[in-house]
Amino acid sequence: MARVYNFSAGPSMLPEVVLNKAAAEMLDYQGSGQSVMEMSHRSKVYDEIIKGAENLLRELMNIPENYKVLFLQGGASTQFAAIPLNFMNGSGKADFVITGQWANKAYKEACKYGEANVIASSKDKTFSYIPKLNKDDFTKDADYFYICLNNTIYGTLYNELPDTGDVPLIADISSCFLSEPIDVSKFGVLFGGAQKNVAPAGLTIVIIREDLLGKAREITPTMLDYKVQADNDSLYNTPPCYPIYICKLVLEWIKNLGGLEAMKERNEKKAKMLYDFLDNSKMFRGTVVKEDRSLMNVPFVTDSDELNAKFIKEAEAAGLINLKGHRSVGGMRASIYNAMPVEGVEALVSFMDNFEKENTK
Ligand SMILES: *Cc1c(COP(=O)(O)O)cnc(C)c1O
Repeated sequence: MARVYNFSAGPSMLPEVVLNKAAAEMLDYQGSGQSVMEMSHRSKVYDEIIKGAENLLRELMNIPENYKVLFLQGGASTQFAAIPLNFMNGSGKADFVITGQWANKAYKEACKYGEANVIASSKDKTFSYIPKLNKDDFTKDADYFYICLNNTIYGTLYNELPDTGDVPLIADISSCFLSEPIDVSKFGVLFGGAQKNVAPAGLTIVIIREDLLGKAREITPTMLDYKVQADNDSLYNTPPCYPIYICKLVLEWIKNLGGLEAMKERNEKKAKMLYDFLDNSKMFRGTVVKEDRSLMNVPFVTDSDELNAKFIKEAEAAGLINLKGHRSVGGMRASIYNAMPVEGVEALVSFMDNFEKENTK
């Protein structure tokens, strides 16, 4: 069987070495006589897996001592509610930058709990850029300032973080998790669903500065109270055991490749190949302003809906799948997360090049 190159925005590809290792350990994990799927989450053998995953994540992301790492369920979308419930409890205000659907969903959810202020938005141009921020517009006594660091649907990435002073910066990093080094100490909270870059769906990782814990509203559901999860080392209830195990294997894979610096280099190389092609093509063009381009999600279009559809169909037949853009944008989108090999991007670029030649009169 030939494996395809899967350009899906998520769930997305996992490294083949990880899948092979998981397959080899499927029935008997390291002599335990059981699959990781079958283990008690409170057993010694599982404890080594979850602690191992946390330690590797701390090492690779250089997470400071005063941050907790939580392995949760419910996806990034559940955090959209957990964040206001846990933190919108001082002034009851929070600031948001609307850079796409995910930021907007987080904002909408926060509106249910307090005064959510939109500081800037790039909706006027279909979220094709990251808006410039003016510090004077920020709410001085906000409980937090919220951004979506990499915008999966529109393909934008912040290359400069807002300077929020003492107001904790909270970022959704679902689609850029582990894609390059990040200075965790600049954030109050980082969180993301794992299914883009870290593990299969079912795991949500939250990295949270300790002093922010313990401020949740009375009505916060126990499962959404970050302090409860932190006090119980993510074992208040049954965690997503198997995705945490795969996460550990993915982290080992990244470490073996040289860590996040090496990952960044690899991702830049892949993205450059694709952007260079787009910049020189007469048929295809990227939809994002150059300075805000994502390393992970690359939306592009031709000038014709028919050509777009033909391209997507023929690419799929050639083993390059899930290249259709998000329904809100149209056109194409190639998500080239960590696990997409360089060869996959080479295959895509060469396919695009041939397609352009064949369809140009
Ligand atoms: C995919 C995605 C989400 C939604 O994640 P779920 O885990 O499905 O809730 C949120 N934010 C960003 C940036 C995403 O890419």
